[in-house]
Amino acid sequence: MIVDMHVHTNVASYCSRLSPQDLIERALRLKLDGVCITEHSSQRGVEETAALAAESGLKVFKGMEAYTDLGDMLVFGLADGMRHHLTPFGTLKKMVQKVGGVIVPAHPCRGLHDLDKWYGPEAIELLMNSVAAIETHNGGNQERGNVMAEKLRERYCMKGIGGSDAHDADRVGKCVTVFEADIEDDAGLIEQLRSGDYRACYLRDLAR
Ligand SMILES: [Zn+2]
Ligand SMILES: [Zn+2]
Repeated sequence: MIVDMHVHTNVASYCSRLSPQDLIERALRLKLDGVCITEHSSQRGVEETAALAAESGLKVFKGMEAYTDLGDMLVFGLADGMRHHLTPFGTLKKMVQKVGGVIVPAHPCRGLHDLDKWYGPEAIELLMNSVAAIETHNGGNQERGNVMAEKLRERYCMKGIGGSDAHDADRVGKCVTVFEADIEDDAGLIEQLRSGDYRACYLRDLAR
């Protein structure tokens, strides 16, 4: 199952020009099986896309992108949005643990030359011990940022996910996650992120 795990729509991410309708059309044209709506600090965006996609066969999942002192985090399982402020990572971790959700650092190496130096080795250790995977393929990154994230993933023996970070239709599906299992709903997505079999890639590299 091919899922773009990181998408912003103009319903709840004010920096996005991507309408739910355009997202669905583009995702279907690219033969994606699913998209995950990850608005900035908000859970509002997903409903409109899910309703519009209901008959299309495209699965629509719900996540969110939160700002923390250890960078942006993709969060799965929270019911509500958050204040659009920097949240300490430890606070987010507690919130997500409470609801049985998972965290995946978004574009962890974007714009950074040395993650260890920037955050300090202890913070990196805490981060890597607290997350289900890391986003190694982000469509908004320079490829260099993704190469660095892939090295980080290898170093900590983590799994990786891919998402386009699309804010417009052109970028939808640039990076994706290939799940071995078929996923039915948000609970299934969390289960897969935690213990499933999946990998990140550029859509262009998938032989289909
Ligand atoms: Zn971000
Ligand atoms: Zn994003």
